[in-house]
Amino acid sequence: MTDISGKVAPRNWTTTLMFALTFAAAAILVPWYGFWQGYSAAAWIWFGLLVVANEMSITCGYHRLYAHASYEAHPVLKVVYLLFGAMALQNSALLWAAGHRVHHKHIDDNERDPYSAGRGFWFSHIGWMLREYPSGVPDLSTVRDLQRDKLLMLQHRFYLPIALTMNIGLPLLLGWLSGDLWGVFLLAGLLRLVVSHHFTFFINSLAHMWGTKPYNEENTARDNGLIAVLTFGEGYHNFHHMFAHDYRNGVRWWQFDPSKWFISIMGALGLAKRLKRVPWFKIQRALLDAQFMRAHRQLAEHPRRAQFEHLRHRIAEEYEAFVKVVAEWSQLREHWIEDTRSALHARLRELESHLQLQIRRMRILQAQIA
Ligand SMILES: [Zn+2]
Ligand SMILES: [Zn+2]
Repeated sequence: MTDISGKVAPRNWTTTLMFALTFAAAAILVPWYGFWQGYSAAAWIWFGLLVVANEMSITCGYHRLYAHASYEAHPVLKVVYLLFGAMALQNSALLWAAGHRVHHKHIDDNERDPYSAGRGFWFSHIGWMLREYPSGVPDLSTVRDLQRDKLLMLQHRFYLPIALTMNIGLPLLLGWLSGDLWGVFLLAGLLRLVVSHHFTFFINSLAHMWGTKPYNEENTARDNGLIAVLTFGEGYHNFHHMFAHDYRNGVRWWQFDPSKWFISIMGALGLAKRLKRVPWFKIQRALLDAQFMRAHRQLAEHPRRAQFEHLRHRIAEEYEAFVKVVAEWSQLREHWIEDTRSALHARLRELESHLQLQIRRMRILQAQIA
């Protein structure tokens, strides 16, 4: 792939060899050893536990804590995130967060978004790390706040020794303790690394290509329940790009987001605090906004659009009501903090349920533009 000037970016041999060799070794050695020797139950258990520890350190730690500051964490929790995040071999938390903040700021901009989905599946999944693309150079001015975090800077400084110890030393130690040295090393060391790499990379590739856009149609980020299962909750990516500072990605209670559940539990245990949540009304407002945009587009593009005059009229009325509700809500919210009168709270709740009803009515109207 070429950069802006049309030149092919130089190969990054460290990452290319690391990804290629670990993938090839896992694809050959893991089945070969399994066929001739078999794996102990301990090897599988360590594999499962370490995949979870790596993935959750990236999603709850690198992503929701460091890149988005969606809550505050106790130093003990930070140490766990930084150790197991380094084990996932995705760079230091500082550099990871720097790249990710640029991804949010310049989403889909092929020259600036480090893993822009506009450059194709391969590029956004892994290709962006295999060459020295100008868009991939970390901009440290985006992480000034993180540079004041002592633990995080310690991980950044000693990233290589920590990553090597966690990837080689820890699996060997666990293997020795379990009496299945090579079995644990191959499953919990090698296979775990490759699996957790690609599960995380799906967030940049598949979660920008496959799924729905309920909150915002203007970028490539999508909500997909299946990807949420593979990525420990990060598959609700359309919501996430809309409300990145919310500690939840799957915002509905039934959406599969183990990272949000883990952060809530840490909150209950006193290891996390100031968990940020977007007000429910704003979420409903975004849903409706997207519905209106979709309905307008569908009406404008429909081959029999002349027959939908009555629908156009109904949608215009709904939109007018929507604008009024939003205006009243914003005005009431301004007084909300100092005013604790229950009448005000009751009216706010009323406005919230008004939007919910509108969402349902819009769904029915939209179904008629088929
Ligand atoms: Zn994204
Ligand atoms: Zn993000």
